[in-house]
Amino acid sequence: MQKQFYIGADIGGTHMRTALVDRQGNIIEAQKVATDISLGAQQAGRRLAEQCRRLVARSIELSGRVASIGLGVAGKIDAGKGRVIFSPNLPPMNNYPLAAELQDQIQLPVFMENDANVFGLGEQWLGAAGAMQNWIGITLGTGVGGCLFLGNRLWNGDGLGFSGEIGHMIIDANGPVCACGMRGCLETHASGRALTEGARQSVTGGTRAGSRLAELCSTRTLTAKDVYLEAVRGDSTAIKLFERMGWALGLTIGNLFTFLGIRHAIIGGGVSDAWDLFIEPLRKSLADHCCMLQESAMIILPSRLGDNAALLGAARFAMESMVRGKRAPGN
Ligand SMILES: [Zn+2]
Repeated sequence: MQKQFYIGADIGGTHMRTALVDRQGNIIEAQKVATDISLGAQQAGRRLAEQCRRLVARSIELSGRVASIGLGVAGKIDAGKGRVIFSPNLPPMNNYPLAAELQDQIQLPVFMENDANVFGLGEQWLGAAGAMQNWIGITLGTGVGGCLFLGNRLWNGDGLGFSGEIGHMIIDANGPVCACGMRGCLETHASGRALTEGARQSVTGGTRAGSRLAELCSTRTLTAKDVYLEAVRGDSTAIKLFERMGWALGLTIGNLFTFLGIRHAIIGGGVSDAWDLFIEPLRKSLADHCCMLQESAMIILPSRLGDNAALLGAARFAMESMVRGKRAPGN
């Protein structure tokens, strides 16, 4: 019998990653290219199709075939029409039929999910979730994504195209304006953008004039990694930004544990590499904001799959969608 493969794709604000994955979850080949979303959704879609064609060719070289493709995209999704409805961190994708277009170009079934949901499916399949039945997943990147597993199943709510949107839970009604248009979302305190914006604001406020961080802010595009490196070097503004991140995450996770009666969370995404800088403030905030559980009962784990969680989860989503006989867009 011909070997079956799946393609998992993780479409982020700066890069898109694609991988050819077998049924056991081995990554046969992975690719990463710049998304260049500033050139528009159509151009990004064409780039994605090129990447997928390459992986389809690879599967044929291996005497196999790609059965389906899974896409993880940040934002609110219309899975039935294969369309991104609203993506705060990829605005050109708003209303763009990314999955439907890819399916037309590649002639394979394409299934789309929110990127944080596919992160969760990856961690559930091969990562940190293990035997955990009920847990919250959080991705810290340019923005903050979230997912919820109850009874070992991904929670999809009422099928409205969003669920687990932890990044847009409001934790300070008078806080900074978020990419979604609201004020004081978790994302404005705990994302890569929150780190860079926070650093810029403190420099503009004049409190850190003359520091290396101030220099970085003025001379080139500041990244979350720059803020991280300055925190490691002992810059007090940078350290405070990570403390704020931990406080905000602890507050939000504590509220969700109280509401849902659960006690596990898994945190991933590129910015979670700064784990040592935010985990203690997070644990303290969690203890301060959750009266129902002992501190030792609340389990916060780092992602085990790192960068590959969303890729593997997207491939798993493609696989499960075929098994469940889900309809690909427009069929
Ligand atoms: Zn928001």
